[in-house]
Order: sequence, then structure tokens, then C-alpha cells
Amino acid sequence: MRIANLFATRTEPVFSFEFFPPQTDEGRDALLRTVSELGALRPGFVSVTYGAGGSTRDRTIELVSTIKNSIGLEAMAHLTCVGSSRDDLRTVLDRLSAAGIENVIALRGDPPRGATTFVPHAGGLAHASDLIEMIRDRCPALCIAAAGYPETHVEATSAEEDLAYLALKVRRGAEVVITQLFFENSRYFDFVSRARAVGITTPIVPGIMPITNVAQIERFTKMCGASIPSSLRLRLEPARNDPEAAARIGVEHAVAQCEELLKRGAPGVHFYTLNRSGSTRDILVTLMRSLPWRRAS
Ligand code: FAD
Repeated sequence: MRIANLFATRTEPVFSFEFFPPQTDEGRDALLRTVSELGALRPGFVSVTYGAGGSTRDRTIELVSTIKNSIGLEAMAHLTCVGSSRDDLRTVLDRLSAAGIENVIALRGDPPRGATTFVPHAGGLAHASDLIEMIRDRCPALCIAAAGYPETHVEATSAEEDLAYLALKVRRGAEVVITQLFFENSRYFDFVSRARAVGITTPIVPGIMPITNVAQIERFTKMCGASIPSSLRLRLEPARNDPEAAARIGVEHAVAQCEELLKRGAPGVHFYTLNRSGSTRDILVTLMRSLPWRRAS
């Protein structure tokens, strides 16, 4: 099912889980077990990322089609412009279509490790909006999602300009926006009102990353420009060398974030799982108990 239809017809929040393709066959098998486990929580869809430089191209396509066709969960492939010519991108799109994939999140991608600026492939595309245009043209039936940045993309010259480019992505065919991770809900609510004010009417799905490791989350937030509020930093400091305590705080914080987001109208939550099922499962199980809607299983 196209995820835009899922959001349009939902009677409950749509939860989704993001995974990255492991490097080895053992890792892949372990991930598929994790996906099956989390599948019991009935996510609306599962997404599989596209590694830096297109390095996971084959594994992304293979995993996303196994999740859809063998495990039976709705799936979304990530696709970036990094290191690919237009022909390469068309080939990936054709393979995804042939595998019956109906959803793609179209991204520009980050500069390769060590580089600070993104340099498009000589025969490739410079912006996610260009990729969206290509997908609309090549695969008109695909549902396209795009990335949005509550705290503004790190390379953007201003919040207004960044939002104008998001609006361009939507005009070119993105039907769902999924946000970068954030830890302060006011950032999301402010972003949604600014997006509505410039005419973006698509669902804007908050992206939530359960914290499991303090040093790791500091690294991620520095890279993607998200901030950690000082109250959360203070809570995390004693757990710097205690991953179990960090994960506990991460679950509590994410539950509180999700409860408020859903009560105040977010259409669902996209979880950056980092391929670990424990925290995401704990968060969802708590949410199902605490919020007014219930699921059969
Ligand atoms: P764009 O929308 O192209 O924006 C990038 C920058 O260029 C912004 O500063 C924007 O303001 C500016 N810009 C946009 N359009 C124009 C234009 N026409 N002219 C001038 N400037 C413009 N990365 C991966 O490598 N693999 C993944 O699987 C992946 N999945 C992600 C999933 C989600 C939900 C999110 C939020 C991010 C993901 N990323 C992934 C990270 C993403 O690739 C980076 O954040 C990247 O730096 C920007 O991608 P984008 O699609 O937002 O780019």
C-alpha cells in the first residue's frame, strides 16, 4: 500500500520503523528476525536506509523486497543521489518497481565521510527535489516521501530557505514528510505550523530516535544539527558509561515525547531503531497502554 493512503485512511497513529542494511549475511538474518519480532507490533510500514555513497544499493533493494514480499510488512526504500548517475538512479527505481515496492523516500544524501560539502555525481542530481522529479516521471505510481528538518538542515542558509525547498519537494511530488530526529517537541510543533503557513499540507511524521548510548547520540546530533535540551543532557550525564541506564532514560524520554506528539495531532511516529528492537518495542508497548486507542494485539 502507498503510505500516503495509509495516512489518509488511518484511524490510529501510523508507527514505522527504520533499519539500515547490515554488512554480513549473519547480520542480515539477525535483522530479519528483529523485523519479524517488531512486526508483531503491527507497524504501518518499515523502511530500509541507503548507505553512504549508494554503498548498500543491492542490500537495500534485497531487504526491502524481502520485508514486503516474504515477511508481509509494508516497506519503503530510501534512495539518495550520492555517487549515482541519472541512469544508475533509474536502474534502482526500475528494480524497486519490479520488486513490487510502492514507497520510496527520496533524499539527496550526506557528503561522504571526511567531506564537508556535497558534490553531485557528474551525471547525477544535486537535490532531493530533482530526484523527486525523476521518480514522478519514471514511476508515476510510486508514493514518494521526503525529509524535513524541524531544526533546519545543517547546510541551509536560513530556516525560511530550507522550508521553501521542502515546499518545492512537495510541489514536485512528495506526499509524506518524515522529520529528522529531535528531542524537544516544541521544535516539531513550530516546524509543522511554519510548514502549514507556506502551504505544505502533507502528513508530517515526527522522527524519533530512542537514545541507547550517550556518546553516540552526541555524535549523531552534532552531525545532523539536532539539539539535546539541557534537562535531558543533565539526566544523561551519569549514564555516560552505563548503556543500560542510558537506554532506560532514552525510553522514558521517547515515551513522553510520543505521548505529547500523538495527543497534539501528529499522524504517527517514525522510529530510527538503529536495528535494535528493545527500546522501540518498550516505547510502543507503553504507548499502547497509556493512550486512548488500543490495538487488538
Ligand atoms: P535536500 O532536500 O536536497 O536538501 C539538502 C540541502 O540543500 C538543504 O540545506 C536544503 O535547504 C538545500 N536545498 C534543497 N534544495 C535546494 C535547491 N533546489 N537549491 C539550493 N539548495 C537546495 N541519508 C542517507 O545517506 N541515507 C538514508 O537512507 C537517509 N535516510 C534519511 C531519512 C530521513 C527521514 C531523514 C530526515 C534523513 C535521511 N538521510 C539519509 C539524511 C539526508 O540524506 C541528509 O540529511 C542530507 O544532508 C540532506 O538530504 P535531503 O534529502 O534533505 O536533501
